[in-house]
Amino acid sequence: MKALVYNGARDVAVTDVTDARIERPTDVLVKITTTNICGSDLHMYEGRTDLEGGKVLGHENLGDVIEVGGVDRVKVGDKVCLPFNIGCGFCANCERGRTGFCLTVNPGVAGGAYGFAGMGPYNGGQAELLRVPYGDFNALVLPEDAAEKENDYVMLSDIFPTGYHATEMADVQPGESVVVYGGGPVGLMAAYSAMLRGASQVFLVDRHADRLALGEKIGATPIDDSAADPVEQVLELTGGAGADKGCEAVGYQAHDAQGNEQPALTMNNLVSSVKATGIIGVVGVFLPQDAGAPDELTQQGKLAFDFGEFWFKGQQIGTGQANVKAYNRRLAALIEQRRTTASFLVSRELPLAEAPDAYRNFDDRVDGWTKVLLKP
Ligand code: NAD
Ligand code: ZN
Repeated sequence: MKALVYNGARDVAVTDVTDARIERPTDVLVKITTTNICGSDLHMYEGRTDLEGGKVLGHENLGDVIEVGGVDRVKVGDKVCLPFNIGCGFCANCERGRTGFCLTVNPGVAGGAYGFAGMGPYNGGQAELLRVPYGDFNALVLPEDAAEKENDYVMLSDIFPTGYHATEMADVQPGESVVVYGGGPVGLMAAYSAMLRGASQVFLVDRHADRLALGEKIGATPIDDSAADPVEQVLELTGGAGADKGCEAVGYQAHDAQGNEQPALTMNNLVSSVKATGIIGVVGVFLPQDAGAPDELTQQGKLAFDFGEFWFKGQQIGTGQANVKAYNRRLAALIEQRRTTASFLVSRELPLAEAPDAYRNFDDRVDGWTKVLLKP
């Protein structure tokens, strides 16, 4: 089968690899019809992780079931969306709905995923075929309108539940104001989710005009941090108090508007632009080690975090991978009932063969390359 393979830093290629196949009775095999490129893929693409060469990338997957092992629920012909996390369904964390931290699929680490550094041996779905472990547990079988709304439903694999997870951790309530750092697909989905939950004001911080414009289109107030200090802008727009809640959707490669990496920048800006007793949901990825970090502290996965200000303001933080299964069924119902169109941020639909070019453009944050969908 054809697949997008990681060869090394900024070197990916579409090549022939061994077909994905059923390996265990609990597996299902999916013919991929849509698979997205994610900001998380870029951490690997840029060589900022220890991803092994030869790995097939892609964790935002949707397709048709073409073969099943011995599963009970999922049938050949079902159109399914796969959470990027792989869960077993029976460990202590999966039982509590924390499927992003499954204790069995990636022994020694809490959490497994497709095509991901450090998340187990699973190949990704930027390919013609994908093996889905524990198919009955992991596959979300989509309703009748799945083919027609494929570009909406595919967002349930990751970024829609992930954006929602940020607002859930921040406990966003109707009428509250929310500041979101990062106007990429995840930040846009966090802003969108905050509005779904009834936020009265949503501020979206970034410096890319096209991303800020998308945010404005869905009702957020754009905050351009290349024009002025984002903290001061948010304080000014909230009568000096700060936003009720905050979301981090950038992660450890946060940089200033001039491009200098400052891994603690968004976290400290959040502490300063969220009000006292506010809650901050952090879905941007931070790593325990980062050999490519700009200084020794952050190479060890440590942040120069304004803990004093954070403590003094009595704030709280929630962190980590999104437990996609905790939300995807209900968010699917919003799509089915036409309460939401999660595809508003799709900018390109391309064949798999064009994936290497798409990676380059998305990595360079070229204007208009917000979210790329590959159609193998
Ligand atoms: P992206 O790289 O497209 O977007 C990041 C955005 O942040 C860019 O638009 C960039 O301009 C902006 N940015 C950089 N520094 C900033 C700063 N100091 N202030 C404000 N904005 C700044 O990526 P994405 O796809 O939107 O993903 C965002 C993050 O979420 C990544 O770290 C990704 O790995 C992570 N992620 C986490 C989960 C999860 O389950 N927790 C799931 C998916 C993605
Ligand atoms: Zn993703």
